[in-house]
Amino acid sequence: MSAYRTGPTPVPVVESERSVSSCTSRNSSSVVCPSNISKDVKEHNFDYFLVLDFEATCEKERTPEPQEIIEFPVIKVCAKTFDTKAVFHEYVKPEVHPTLSSFCTELTGIIQDMVDEKPHLNEVLKKFNNWMEEEGLFQSKVKFAFVTCGDWDLKLMLPKQCSYFGISLPTYMNTWINIKKSFAQTTGIWPKGLIQMLDYIELDHVGRLHSGIDDCRNIARILSKLAQRGHVFEINGRLDFRRNNKMFKS
Ligand SMILES: [Mg+2]
Repeated sequence: MSAYRTGPTPVPVVESERSVSSCTSRNSSSVVCPSNISKDVKEHNFDYFLVLDFEATCEKERTPEPQEIIEFPVIKVCAKTFDTKAVFHEYVKPEVHPTLSSFCTELTGIIQDMVDEKPHLNEVLKKFNNWMEEEGLFQSKVKFAFVTCGDWDLKLMLPKQCSYFGISLPTYMNTWINIKKSFAQTTGIWPKGLIQMLDYIELDHVGRLHSGIDDCRNIARILSKLAQRGHVFEINGRLDFRRNNKMFKS
């Protein structure tokens, strides 16, 4: 899910001149570049991209208060080959409004049974932390960056829900790459959303729009395509604690 809006004026493309000289990962395991990766793919500042796209409770007329995450998917993508290395995918039971609206089910494809017996956000964040550990993402030399479509997931949704329930927000989720900004840097066009980006780079949409895991898959495909065009990804989204604290108290 994303809160789509018009964005800033496209900024000039600033690309690193560094080219990929080796397909050996910075961490202990080496990876082999598949032959279909363009020679224009530059070396990135990260070992892995963690593509994330939450879905949350919603209603047709208004946003529920509090809005609660119901799907928590993350795809671990190798920053050398753009292959999927692992997937974390959990549905989450909402606490305050446990019954999903028909609008929400129609939009996301998530039915009541899919969240009823599932853990609350606090437990899912613990499971996610364990997954991060198992995947070696906390090893000292491993660099990763979350990738989202817009700033909604990590700037608003997760911090706001964590604040509401008094859950500690993992510090590693304080920064991210907003792929819409990366897309604008590469193409000079500010995209409304996922479909416009896919259309522009001539990729078919796969799966169901507003299914969190399918949205992640499509974001990962855009990520790979922008890299093939020579884009070097950098962190372009971060939490502004002062602003967020003020916003969540009101
Ligand atoms: Mg989505």
